[in-house]
Amino acid sequence: MNDTRGRIAGLREAMAQADLSALLITEPCNRRYLTGFTGSAGLLLVLGDRLHLLVDSRYYEQVPREAPDLQLERVGYQPYPRLAEILKERGIAALGFEPEHVTVEGLRKMQEKLPGVAWKPVIGLASDLRTRKSAAEVAQIRRAVDLADLAMEEAYRVARPGMSERNLAWQLEVFMRERGADALAFDIIVAAGENGALPHHRASGRIIGEGEPIVVDMGCVVDGYCSDLTRTFSLGPAADSDYDRVFAIVDAANRAAVEGLIPGMTGKAGDALARDLIVAAGYGDQFGHSLGHGVGLAVHEGPRLSALADDVVLPAGAVVTVEPGIYLPGRFGVRVEDMVLLRDNGAELLTRVARPSVLPLAVQV
Ligand code: ZN
Ligand code: ZN
Repeated sequence: MNDTRGRIAGLREAMAQADLSALLITEPCNRRYLTGFTGSAGLLLVLGDRLHLLVDSRYYEQVPREAPDLQLERVGYQPYPRLAEILKERGIAALGFEPEHVTVEGLRKMQEKLPGVAWKPVIGLASDLRTRKSAAEVAQIRRAVDLADLAMEEAYRVARPGMSERNLAWQLEVFMRERGADALAFDIIVAAGENGALPHHRASGRIIGEGEPIVVDMGCVVDGYCSDLTRTFSLGPAADSDYDRVFAIVDAANRAAVEGLIPGMTGKAGDALARDLIVAAGYGDQFGHSLGHGVGLAVHEGPRLSALADDVVLPAGAVVTVEPGIYLPGRFGVRVEDMVLLRDNGAELLTRVARPSVLPLAVQV
């Protein structure tokens, strides 16, 4: 985390544009991104010339190690008296905060504890900086992507008819944890047959049958950075005669988006690269979710690739997922999800694992 100075400079520029001299950061990924501090709690006060991090005693040792440049404020579990003191000392009357990350009760409490302060909601100042990845961040993301790729290859090897969804999910979790994952990016989804038609089914005791399409969606966290990967495959030729055709449509939609994405495009235009193809094939109503999302310190972050994102411009340096899907209730679902890096001349695929639609049972060992 040696990029934090440039990030803080970028944030201060955004603060100046918003006419803000003080900003309170409470979202953990933003706090980490701006300081290198990985703790799960703490108030980061960003001023024009100084950073104060107000933490409880769990982090008194950790802050100087991870973020030696900032002003550590040892405040226990009562941060507000010290926060009020700093604001008073510096003559600050208005304080920006992240409304998308503060609860109604959290705001009420802050207003009660700091009665003289004008609280100014500012959306996305820090989160927007995170959409453009540095080379170092891309290198870290690649490690998380590579490990998820290896885990998917493991899924191809070990998935068997007769195994439960949960059993397969557990094997993949162990696989990633044993090879350096700090954590899963989210609970692994293994969805066989009709469960695959629920885009966010997790993994149940349901037994996987021969010839059933299985959706496996998983990701890991390596040194704080996430990956996100989905493949759909059937163990032996699919029993449902529409599967091969539906798979081919989703696969083609994924490729069309990867080929067509370019920085400067809106999130809506990016989404349309895949959606138009699925709509033209007659499955528009069966693709209910958006095409993709940014991935970084959080598995879901900006920028969004969505039909609603006509105000989002995709920046060069963004890392996003491309995950079209078609879901047929009561039958099966198909989703194919890759991660790409938006370069000036187009999208570079980060995900490299193969995407077989059918695994021949005979070659499984
Ligand atoms: Zn996913
Ligand atoms: Zn995703």
